[in-house]
Amino acid sequence: MSQIHLLPDHLINQIAAGEVIERPANALKEIIENSLDADASYIDIQLEAGGIKRLTVTDNGQGINETDVPLALQRHATSKISTLDDLEKVVSMGFRGEGLASIASVSRLTLTSRTAIAAHATQIFAEDGKLSPVKPAAHAPGTTVDVVELFFNTPARRQFLKSPSTEFAHCRTIVERLALAHPNVAFELQHNSKNIFTLPAQSLSERCTAIMGVDFTAASLNVDETINGMRLNGLIGKPTFAQGKTSQQYIFVNQRFVRDKIILHAVKQAYNDVLHQALTPAFVLFLTLSPTDVDANVHPTKTEVRFRQSQAVHQLVFHALNKCLAATNATQTESISQ
Ligand code: ADP
Ligand code: MG
Repeated sequence: MSQIHLLPDHLINQIAAGEVIERPANALKEIIENSLDADASYIDIQLEAGGIKRLTVTDNGQGINETDVPLALQRHATSKISTLDDLEKVVSMGFRGEGLASIASVSRLTLTSRTAIAAHATQIFAEDGKLSPVKPAAHAPGTTVDVVELFFNTPARRQFLKSPSTEFAHCRTIVERLALAHPNVAFELQHNSKNIFTLPAQSLSERCTAIMGVDFTAASLNVDETINGMRLNGLIGKPTFAQGKTSQQYIFVNQRFVRDKIILHAVKQAYNDVLHQALTPAFVLFLTLSPTDVDANVHPTKTEVRFRQSQAVHQLVFHALNKCLAATNATQTESISQ
């Protein structure tokens, strides 16, 4: 008798969700990244009880065609890539076609969307792996994803959630990272109907001030260096601003927040001469390089990347920061000796 059988789609989705959607903040990241991929210039985020009870994101992006609405909730369905070649030069935040399907498999999810040319919006509801028929709805051009009772059907996962205030803190961190990477997009964040922040479209340094505080921008240096088509720009804290905590360290590769040992190592090396080992520098750094030189498909959450030329990345980061820090060091020494 055969003992091997294919798993039902719903269970496959829940297993996939286990890899990516550990807590409300992960669901929020997937949903906001979709809004950014849809070229939204305004993203409104409403959370209830740390996103556990409800998480609603509305954008003014491209929207989804009526016929595509059910597909958006299906696994491995994406508008972002079609071929391996596309995958190798992907510039969008998403490409795996798993985000919405995963979230829908562990929550009650309503998707409402309208393209600019559609006469009305289209709405679909998903619960326990079942999709409702689509129906017309009222909505401005753009998309709303409404996620209610995350993990209601996966008690083991629900059990690992922390308090609403801790889950909210994780959600806030996610929104802050995405907002830093996209200063030209307006963001609004509310928690339990209370306004947390309203960010208009602004310059990078204005956005840094809004997220990291005026103390940081006032005590930071501008970095901007391009070598062989690879650019590093951003703001780095002067050695005097060092705080001893890592929460003010942001590395973005092609606008994606990542944790990267190579870049971090180069940063530390550059600060080595000007900062005591026990102190931690604050920085917001953007590395921009050809998408073919970086692989974001290392892990489903995409917070790790692989560089084709990691040596060149290290050199650029070290050189750019070293130059910038040496220049301030020299001016400081000059002003002291004067
Ligand atoms: P991926 O982002 O990897 O393509 P998702 O499951 O997150 O996978 O989304 C599936 C598809 O649904 C996307 O490829 C996109 O076409 C559409 N979609 C999802 N969210 C939005 C949105 N906010 N605006 C426009 N289209 C969206
Ligand atoms: Mg996505």
